[in-house]
Amino acid sequence: MIPFVGRIDEVEQAAWLKQLSTLLPEETIVAFSLLSDVEKSQCDVAIVANPDPQELMQLPNLKWVHSVWAGVDRMVDELTMMPFTIVRLIDPELAKTMSEAVLAWTMYLHRGMPFYRQQQCEKTWYQRAMVTPQERRVGVLGLGALGQVSATRLVDNGFYVSGWSRTAKSFEGVPCYCGEEGLDALLEDSDILICLLPLTDSTRGLLNHERLALLPNGAMLINFARGPIVDEMALLEHLDNGHLDHAVLDVFAQEPLPTSHRFWSHPKVTVLPHISAPTNPVSASQIVAKAIRHYRANGFIPEGVNASLGY
Ligand code: NAP
Repeated sequence: MIPFVGRIDEVEQAAWLKQLSTLLPEETIVAFSLLSDVEKSQCDVAIVANPDPQELMQLPNLKWVHSVWAGVDRMVDELTMMPFTIVRLIDPELAKTMSEAVLAWTMYLHRGMPFYRQQQCEKTWYQRAMVTPQERRVGVLGLGALGQVSATRLVDNGFYVSGWSRTAKSFEGVPCYCGEEGLDALLEDSDILICLLPLTDSTRGLLNHERLALLPNGAMLINFARGPIVDEMALLEHLDNGHLDHAVLDVFAQEPLPTSHRFWSHPKVTVLPHISAPTNPVSASQIVAKAIRHYRANGFIPEGVNASLGY
């Protein structure tokens, strides 16, 4: 018996149950609410989507949970005392989807689309100087499952790309930085900055007033990771005082973005409703099913989130 534990709507949960049950016909996968007390005591693995910690606490023999989402910051925050492994979704399809969004919105900024849209509203005819992709310096914060594929896709499209991660990395065509000094160097060298970091104690508020000030004049920001990594008030100040040109934001400190928030009507902000890389239920279910089948065959639990690092 494998429970699906999630705080998602019923239709979405039913779709996950159907998809997972088709791929794992040898297992009984059910909504948590349908488990008897005896069944709860027998579960050693659960499939989760933003689970309620109170529900997981009712599964005393749980060894691990597989999330159907890549971002697990909320789970890590809420489940500090839980004695089981949290496995997050690592899906090449998701990385491809994110890299497509990164390329699309980098092109949007690179070719000055917000600027020309504004000109059209004002019926202004003005041609900006052309900048080639090779001249456009793009900095990618986070070189994990999503950052690496996104950085490579940008390189393949001719951009000058550099990256930053916690531990040192090297991959072809992308100068890689790490650590505090590395971050300053990357920021100073980024015309377009793309955030693909996980939200942890170390990254919360990372892009504060001082760090945003290190970006070159006219730089632009894309945040596709988590809202609280960017200090929203500091970002507004840098946009208002003319230092930064534009921000494409898919994630916010509060979601949905409150209707009163200045971002909605700011001419230098593009607001997206957390759509840069939605989980693909088909590929995600295949990955979860494979991991569970592997576990049943040989007891192998995939590498989980590092509790002290928070990702
Ligand atoms: P990941 O594979 O865990 O990669 C995280 C990267 O960030 C790694 O390169 C890691 O460095 C680096 N990092 C972590 N903490 C750092 C720190 N303190 N300083 C410098 N670098 C640090 O994560 P992922 O799968 O690429 O996903 C990234 C995030 O994207 C997720 O956590 C989620 O919040 C977000 N996301 C958003 C959407 C959306 O639709 N908007 C969809 C999916 C995911 P090391 O390589 O040295 O470990």
